[in-house]
Amino acid sequence: MTDRNDALNLDREDKLAPLRDEFRLREGLIYLDGNSLGPMQACVAQRVQQCLEKEWAQDLIASWNTAGWYRLPQTVGAKIASLVGAGADDVAVTDSTSVNLFKVLAAAISMCPDRRVIVSERSNFPTDLYIAEGLAEFAGKGHELRLIDSTDELAGAIDADVAAVMLTHVNYRTGEVHDMPDVTRRAHEAGAVMVWDLAHSAGALPVDLAGADADFAIGCGYKYLNGGPGAPAFVYVAPRLQADVSQPLSGWFGHRAPFEMKPSFEAATTIHRFLTGTPPVLSLVALDAALDIWDRVSMEEIREKSVKLCELFIELVETRCGGHGLSLASPRDTARRGSQVCFAHADAFPIMQALIARGVVGDFRAPDILRFGFAPLYVRFADVYDAVEHLRDILDTQEWRQERFMVKGAVT
Ligand SMILES: *Cc1c(COP(=O)(O)O)cnc(C)c1O
Repeated sequence: MTDRNDALNLDREDKLAPLRDEFRLREGLIYLDGNSLGPMQACVAQRVQQCLEKEWAQDLIASWNTAGWYRLPQTVGAKIASLVGAGADDVAVTDSTSVNLFKVLAAAISMCPDRRVIVSERSNFPTDLYIAEGLAEFAGKGHELRLIDSTDELAGAIDADVAAVMLTHVNYRTGEVHDMPDVTRRAHEAGAVMVWDLAHSAGALPVDLAGADADFAIGCGYKYLNGGPGAPAFVYVAPRLQADVSQPLSGWFGHRAPFEMKPSFEAATTIHRFLTGTPPVLSLVALDAALDIWDRVSMEEIREKSVKLCELFIELVETRCGGHGLSLASPRDTARRGSQVCFAHADAFPIMQALIARGVVGDFRAPDILRFGFAPLYVRFADVYDAVEHLRDILDTQEWRQERFMVKGAVT
């Protein structure tokens, strides 16, 4: 890559390029933060408007049947299932990622009543660790978390005391990818249950939950799936487990027949068992509409472009921003990296603020990470080129040292 024209040529050859037109991204914005909050598509606004004006305002309660509200957790689940290698009936969309994790992890440890250890990583996303801590305490049987500090420690950590292995497939900070089939097999060989968090995987790279024989998985609706702020999350349960495992948030939507209004709980024998209460219909229709774009693209095409975008970014940063103290914090090996690239820098926070001020939106992750997400549905090769030029300029001129870039908001 020698100049911007090369990037423009890559965009001209890119078969996914027209998909960007579906997104309402303002002119001049370089959005490399779809792994925190995916942008909005025009069809989502239309669908939510229809739900408000027709389904809710006019048809009111009839819409539970006539507009398919009641089935949304399944119909939206089926769309996500096709992106993560799951059967259409094995994914439900409900609650938040954190709450779904509580449910599946509780189900997992209940399957191994004689074991007391939950294995995870210290570098896992905090909510995953917090939920596991809370569950361990609530279970009241002396469960403990065993946290590893690198993937190499994983094999040694999974022994006969382990009830569940709970890992995030793509690390939220570094983008490092676990070998899902291999880790799942190790967990099963040790007699443990495998729980995967797909927050940074669904819509980012091919995933084959069924092929890996995963037991449970959860994931996020508002990152690469573009479902909108606080979009409901998904939960996968292997079909071989659905009729038997129980989860503790046994609300009426998880009942075998919610509208029989029975005084005691009798769990559904399907993925419905992992629902709890009334689903958030407005958020579900937004996610439902956001997912239609995936009919027009395969995960293989997504991955191919994602790899090219990430490799271009690394090459340009390393050749153009040398001597400024940036070091690659993501795996260099493409096969071990998700759809994001991170660089570490002692002044990562003000540097990211300076980038954002120029319309290049990535994010800062404590303590020293500049994180850039590359969502192939709408990120262009020219965006990658321009983002690196802004970064180079900010570093060369030391623009980031300005006082205004030091101020931290509540959400970073
Ligand atoms: C984003 C993310 C979550 C988000 O959980 P919420 O309940 O939606 O706040 C959970 N786990 C991981 C690994 C994430 O990256």
